[in-house]
Amino acid sequence: MRLPLPDDELVWGGRNAVFWHPDAKRWLHLMADKGWTAPQWPKEFGGAGLTAEEAEVLDEEMRRLDCRPPLKSFGLTMLGPILLQYGTEEQKRRYLPDIAAGRIRWCQGFSEPMAGSDLASVQTRAIHDEDTLVITGHKVWTSYAHKADWMYCLVRTAREAKPQDGMSFLLLDMSTPGIRVEPIQLISGRSIFCEVFFENVRVPAENVVGTPGEGWTVAKSLLRHERLSIARGAGQDRVELREVIDLIDGAASLPIGTSREALRDRAVTWMMEEHALRLLQQRVAVLAQDPEVDIPDGYTSILKYCRAKSNQERWDILLDATGPGSLALNDQNELSAIARNWLRARGNSIEGGTSEIQLNIIAKRMLGLPSRENSR
Ligand SMILES: Cc1cc2nc3c(=O)[nH]c(=O)nc-3n(C[C@H](O)[C@H](O)[C@H](O)COP(=O)(O)OP(=O)(O)OC[C@H]3O[C@@H](n4cnc5c(N)ncnc54)[C@H](O)[C@@H]3O)c2cc1C
Repeated sequence: MRLPLPDDELVWGGRNAVFWHPDAKRWLHLMADKGWTAPQWPKEFGGAGLTAEEAEVLDEEMRRLDCRPPLKSFGLTMLGPILLQYGTEEQKRRYLPDIAAGRIRWCQGFSEPMAGSDLASVQTRAIHDEDTLVITGHKVWTSYAHKADWMYCLVRTAREAKPQDGMSFLLLDMSTPGIRVEPIQLISGRSIFCEVFFENVRVPAENVVGTPGEGWTVAKSLLRHERLSIARGAGQDRVELREVIDLIDGAASLPIGTSREALRDRAVTWMMEEHALRLLQQRVAVLAQDPEVDIPDGYTSILKYCRAKSNQERWDILLDATGPGSLALNDQNELSAIARNWLRARGNSIEGGTSEIQLNIIAKRMLGLPSRENSR
C-alpha cells in the first residue's frame, strides 16, 4: 500500500466498490476503523476527532512512510465538511459514517450547459409537490456520474430577481427513476465525464442541505473545499528534485529549442515554488481548523490557482525531459504515464472554477478590485 498510486489502483468506495487487490480493501477497513480516512471528523460520525495539528502530523507521517491514501472520495473532501457545517443531525448521522467508511460514492452536479463559471445561472428546476421536490433539467461535466451512488447538486427552487437567490443544495440517490446518465466521449478514448438528465425526478424535500433557497451559500462553501482538495490532490505524490534532474540528464534528446541547462533551471525554480506552495497550504490548513468558520475565498483561490500552474509546469518539464517522442503511442497503442498525466493536468486550470475565475476572486476579495458577483 505504498506510493506511487496509479490511477487504476485508486479506491473510490461506494455500493459497487472495486478493489484492485485484497490488500487495498484491508487498508481501507483498517484506516476507516481508526477514523483515519476522515481524521478531523468527530468520532461519532466515523472520524478520529483529531485537531488540525494532529491531522497534519498524521498526514506527514503517512507521506514519510509513502503510504497510499486508502480512499479517494468527493464525500470526504467536499460533501462531508459541508454536512458538518450545514447538515441537520439526521443528515450527519445518515451520511457521514458511510462516507468515512467508503460505503457511498458521490458525484457533483453543479455545471450545466449554460452555467459553468457563471454558476448562478443554474436552470435545473425543483418544484415542490407537498414534501417532495420534482427535478427537471440537465447537468454536464459530472465527473464519475456513471459510477456514483448519490449526487449533491444545485437546483433552482424559486425564481428571484437576483440569480444567486432561490437555489437549493440537494442530495439525491442516482438510482431514483427519471435520471439518465450519458458518458461523454473524450479524445483520449477514456471518459470520466457524464451528462445527467433529470425528468420529473422525485426527491424528498428533507434532502435539502441548509436553508431552502439559500443553496448558493452552501455551494460556495463547497467550492472552497473543492479548491483546497484540488490544491492538495494535484501535488500529493512526492517528487524528488534529484529524480527530475536525473531524467533530464539521462534524456537521449530533448525537444527542439529546449536545452538541458534551461530545463534544469526550470526544474529547480519549480521545486522552490512547490515548497513555498506547501508552506502556504499549511497556513490555510490552520485557517480551516474550525469547521464552523468558512476559509476566506481569496486563500483557497490563491492555492487553487497556484497549484494548477505548478502541476502543469511539473508535467511540462517531465514531458520535455522525456524527449521529442514523449507523446508517441507505445507498442500497446497507449500513451506513457507522463503523457497521460500531462494531458490530465490541462484540466487543473478548469475544474473547480477556472484560473481566470480564481484571479477574479483574488482581485475582488484580496485586492478590493471590482468583479462580477455571480461567478464561481
Ligand atoms: C477535470 C474536470 C472535472 C470536472 N468535474 C466536474 C464535476 O464533477 N461536476 C461539475 O459540476 N462540473 C465539473 N467540471 C466542470 C467545471 O466546473 C467547468 O468546466 C468550469 O467551471 C468552467 O465552466 P465552463 O466549462 O462552462 O466554461 P465557461 O464558464 O464557459 O468558460 C469559458 C472560458 O471563459 C472564461 N471566463 C468565463 N467567465 C469569465 C469571467 N467572468 N472572467 C474571466 N474569464 C471568464 C473561463 O475562464 C474559460 O476560459 C469539471 C471540469 C473539469 C475540467
